[in-house]
Amino acid sequence: MDTTRKPSWLRAKLPSGPGYAATRGLVDGHQLHTVCQSAQCPNLGECWSRGTATVMILGNICTRSCQFCAIETGRPAAPDLGEPARVADAVARMNLRHCVVTSVARDELADGGAGAWAATIRAIRHRNPLTAIEVLVPDFKGQLELVDTVLAAKPDIYNHNLETVERLQKPVRVQARYDRSRAVLRHAKGRGFVTKTGIMLGLGEERHEIEQTIRDIAADQTNILTIGQYLQPSPQHRPIARWAPPEEFAHWREFGLGLGLGVVESGPLVRSSYHADEQSQKYTGAEHLNTVNALASP
Ligand code: SF4
Repeated sequence: MDTTRKPSWLRAKLPSGPGYAATRGLVDGHQLHTVCQSAQCPNLGECWSRGTATVMILGNICTRSCQFCAIETGRPAAPDLGEPARVADAVARMNLRHCVVTSVARDELADGGAGAWAATIRAIRHRNPLTAIEVLVPDFKGQLELVDTVLAAKPDIYNHNLETVERLQKPVRVQARYDRSRAVLRHAKGRGFVTKTGIMLGLGEERHEIEQTIRDIAADQTNILTIGQYLQPSPQHRPIARWAPPEEFAHWREFGLGLGLGVVESGPLVRSSYHADEQSQKYTGAEHLNTVNALASP
């Protein structure tokens, strides 16, 4: 399969228009990092034009070196204590009824960044009491007391991505483990939270492995699953093994729903946070109320 040329179904909207400009101004003005930019997300044009962005807290340098990810690996700066308030303010100005926050991995911190996570969730809640808060969190090295620190701040959706099938964890996620990530998701579920995870296709997985992974996710009683195509951020990253066609994504959606998953968002351009408000409406009841006007006014 020729993986050097993107198939037509992966062509995404280019960034433009007043909505895009307003989102960009807000992100820059609040000195926020977004995973949209750091991970070179193909949906940036569409999401930012409709006034949504996924804020990435705890800096833009990650302590891990996942082979699919465009975020820089290194030693990050100390956490910015003013960040939670700025994130809360940005969510208010975007007029979001559903926000998604993620972070880099901060394995060098004693608490893995869990304290900053909890402070951010509380700041968003305090400033935006009606906004559903979805967190896309690292595994905290499987330390469940740190997961509890985040859960104590009561996010509405607890998302942690498995990213790929069990066999490919080591070459793709390097410092992460399949069983550990599943244990984190089960722990949040056991505490009564709505849980969510995601995988990518095109990393070298076999069909039977995808099937088993979705079965595992369903067995963990995960509520929401996202499935998207892996895109290679640079020649130094893991090569694309194949382009999964749209029909295959449709197949896995039906397969997951048939196993009892509540929502399966599956398509070439699907990312964890892509249309996250719509994915989780079933659980949060939240609607996306953003308007460009709301963004443009101070
Ligand atoms: S899909 Fe997520 S990461 Fe990509 S641009 Fe949209 S909000 Fe940002």
